[in-house]
Amino acid sequence: MSCLFCKIIAREIPSDIVFENDHALAFRDIHPAAPTHVLVIPKKHVHGIAEAEEGDVEALGQVLLAARAVAAREKLEGGFRLAINNGPDAGQTVFHLHVHVLGGRAMSWPPG
Ligand code: 5GP
Ligand code: ZN
Repeated sequence: MSCLFCKIIAREIPSDIVFENDHALAFRDIHPAAPTHVLVIPKKHVHGIAEAEEGDVEALGQVLLAARAVAAREKLEGGFRLAINNGPDAGQTVFHLHVHVLGGRAMSWPPG
């Protein structure tokens, strides 16, 4: 298995896990871009949002619900942003679908 995030799910690579259920795992980003920066991933390997299929609907929905749970646990009452990068123009570097949960500071719009 060569996927970095699959290795994190398998505990082959350590991470600071903040939420886990049967469908999703959430852990702190190693290079935080905000006071709270958590990555939420489906336990099922999905390459990226552009490759997601009908059969991934459950995994995609569970990731969003897990992101909601993370935002509540991290007490992001002031708001938070969910981001999915896809492809080189968006700066995707890891090819296991992940939702960034960013919060703890004001977010500018549009993003850079
Ligand atoms: P992308 O740029 O693909 O949307 O996001 C990948 C994210 O994964 C980056 O924010 C990067 O800091 C994070 N990341 C890369 N490798 C690791 C790692 O080994 N552990 C953790 N916790 N985060 C990682
Ligand atoms: Zn993977």
